[in-house]
Amino acid sequence: MVEIKTRGEIDAIRAAGQVVARALAAVRDHATARTRLAELDEVARSVLAAAGASSPFLGYQPSFAPVPFPAVICASLNDAALHGIPGRRRLAQGDLVSIDCGATLDGWVADAAISFTVGPPNAADDRLIGTARAALEAGIGAAVAGARIGDVSAAIGAVGRAGGYGINTDFGGHGVGRSMHESPSVPNEGRAGRGMVLSPGLVVAIEPWFMAGGSDKYQIDDDGWTIRTTDGSRAAHVEHTIAVTEDGPVVLTAA
Ligand code: MG
Ligand code: MG
Repeated sequence: MVEIKTRGEIDAIRAAGQVVARALAAVRDHATARTRLAELDEVARSVLAAAGASSPFLGYQPSFAPVPFPAVICASLNDAALHGIPGRRRLAQGDLVSIDCGATLDGWVADAAISFTVGPPNAADDRLIGTARAALEAGIGAAVAGARIGDVSAAIGAVGRAGGYGINTDFGGHGVGRSMHESPSVPNEGRAGRGMVLSPGLVVAIEPWFMAGGSDKYQIDDDGWTIRTTDGSRAAHVEHTIAVTEDGPVVLTAA
């Protein structure tokens, strides 16, 4: 079932979204060469705690996962795209880092992700991250009242494919509200004009993730969580939680 949010509920999700934005900014500021991924998780935990928010990631265990997720951020490096567990590994200059974070505040959830490099990006990483961001913008731009889910999916996928990147729709965008993953699904590729009509009050996370090698295949690490490209190429992931409104899409996780 798809839940339509009131203006007040959207404001509550925006408040959670501001906590996520602050957590992601703090993590990025802290992500320099030699920093351990677990330290980045600690940084995000402090931002959530200071705001009185909890984490929808911590202890999360969807059907595909063998163990509950043990952190408040996903930290996915280089050929890892999604769901990386922040452990003792240290960042190195040139690493491509994707950080996904959520917050639950007053019972409402927001979810967002950023990708960046440690130090200046090389040309290939710069293009990959830039294309993921452009796809996110295209997806948000397509999320207008009266359009369909397929319009959002097609907009995201067109940007990724034009870049020559691999796209796998097993994981993608989703409704957001009192829980992190609600209906509808918002795949990163699809057919324009198909799917559910977008109504004002719909809140969704839009989250393109692209694989640089052009293959659509991924594999899952032995930890049961980390999603990695099978060809060893790098991946980037960016995400915002947005609301469809009568005045157009509104990003709720923007800083
Ligand atoms: Mg996320
Ligand atoms: Mg999400």
